[in-house]
Amino acid sequence: MKPKVFVSRRIPDRGLEKVLEFCDAEVWEDELPPSREVLIEKTRDCEGLLSLLTDKIDGEFLDQCPKLRVVANYAVGFDNIIVDDCTARGVAVGNTPGVLTDTTADFAFTLLMSAARRVVEGMDYVRAGRWKTWGPMLLLGRDIYGATLGLLGLGRIGSAMAERAKGFNMRVLYYDPYRREDLEKELNLEYVDLDTLFEQADFLSVHVPLTPETNGMVNAARFKQMKKTAILVNSARGPIVNTNDLYEALRDGEIAYAGVDVTDPEPIQTDHPILKLSNFVVCPHIASASIETRGRMAEIAADNLIAGLKGEALPAPVNKGVIAKRK
Ligand code: NAP
Repeated sequence: MKPKVFVSRRIPDRGLEKVLEFCDAEVWEDELPPSREVLIEKTRDCEGLLSLLTDKIDGEFLDQCPKLRVVANYAVGFDNIIVDDCTARGVAVGNTPGVLTDTTADFAFTLLMSAARRVVEGMDYVRAGRWKTWGPMLLLGRDIYGATLGLLGLGRIGSAMAERAKGFNMRVLYYDPYRREDLEKELNLEYVDLDTLFEQADFLSVHVPLTPETNGMVNAARFKQMKKTAILVNSARGPIVNTNDLYEALRDGEIAYAGVDVTDPEPIQTDHPILKLSNFVVCPHIASASIETRGRMAEIAADNLIAGLKGEALPAPVNKGVIAKRK
């Protein structure tokens, strides 16, 4: 008999077909995620769960799903999962690292450039019928070439940003708890403390995971340290940046612009005053959303799920060493 699994949203066929071949799978077809109650009900008798970042997986959830052996998250970030609760119950957790690194860095750079060169404002200007002639002072932005990029976090995506910055002859500063001397020469990076990072960056790009330590890490005090001409880019997780502090900093000219793919809350309320600011560009959490990458993510998530169900080591484990123990 095939193992029972719940797939909490339709994912690309490249992964889904593998899941359907190996498992007795129920797939949630709605655009919106299942409520917690529904997620529990659907997973209660399952051995595997293919989850999304909108599904909160904690001890209370796991205790109601006693057969669950593996949670395969369709994302590299896993802040929706209390990993220790899974480990304590012998539930293997997997994510999708690596395959979305370049696509996400491409998009972080897209946000950086859109903000620096006021692309969305330009589009609005044309659409509103305001484009009458070439203007010497029209929509002046900021140069990217030769500017200073500050990377908060130098993991996979932060490093990929540094590679892109080389082509723009940028000075690149970074802060990460773990100094990467091996990469400093190759990518022409300077390791600095947090204060220097915020003070000197023309562009400050966030690439840390969401943890208790990074939650709210970019806040009013940090905005005060930044240059008034600085541009913030957040393609990591919304709660790392305090939304109301960002709104005030943009409104009051403490920083010049922000381009974000993630918000807190998510989605941002449509009546939030930040959406009225012209120096704010936001996208609906699509940094990894290329056809190729979402297919690769689906495949890794499926491979993690199937390995966990077989009692094998996951190809992309979060709690490495935990082989699904439950029966
Ligand atoms: P990663 O390789 O794990 O890199 C994260 C880096 O941040 C690591 O080097 C980590 O250092 C560092 N870090 C942790 N805490 C820090 C702190 N307090 N201050 C400074 N640096 C800190 O992860 P990744 O693959 O680059 O992805 C980063 C994040 O991007 C993910 O966690 C996810 O939330 C987000 N993401 C978003 C999208 C999207 O669609 N918008 C797509 C992909 C990823 P240590 O390793 O030493 O802890």
